[in-house]
Amino acid sequence: MKCSQCGNEKLIKTVIPMKVSSDGYLYDLFPKDIDAYLCTNCGHYEFFSMKKVKDYENLVSQIEEKRVQLKDLEKELSVYIKNIEKLEQLNSEIIEIENQLKNLDITIRKQQELKTELSVLNTKKEILELYSRIIEIENQLDSGLPIETIKQSALRHEIEELEFELKRKNMPSSISSIYSQIRPLREEIRQMEHHLENGEI
Ligand SMILES: [Zn+2]
Repeated sequence: MKCSQCGNEKLIKTVIPMKVSSDGYLYDLFPKDIDAYLCTNCGHYEFFSMKKVKDYENLVSQIEEKRVQLKDLEKELSVYIKNIEKLEQLNSEIIEIENQLKNLDITIRKQQELKTELSVLNTKKEILELYSRIIEIENQLDSGLPIETIKQSALRHEIEELEFELKRKNMPSSISSIYSQIRPLREEIRQMEHHLENGEI
């Protein structure tokens, strides 16, 4: 080890003679996890803390881990969102079939086929609309705008009903559960990044 001021190589491990007094007791100003060395030539102090280095590394890797978790959840959510984007297309397909059904010249067989197809598309549409409404509410709750407590619980209740409806259609949704995991995770990451930026390790 070299003194960063004069280059002298003889440094001695020492304690920091800085104490604060409170209630008549003396307290060390420097935490125990900081190692202090004194240059025997110029009197300069050198401070080291491997514990802080480890704490810093831990925090960085925790943030990284949480970011990966967040990304996975957002990916799960994006599957639903991509599906919802198909709603418009679905609507025009439904209209198209309804128009075909109005044609009096089609055979009974063809008519049956179209009706079956229509029923499948309508079910799909209902499911996507339920997904869409849940996401709409979750985003509303997420917007950061103040929402009255009564309004909030009404929205939560609506989500429960929409989820029940989806379950009844054998299409259980995890949208709400994804949101409830994403929210605290975002907050945790935000706080950890704040600690890191401010050196509060
Ligand atoms: Zn020195």
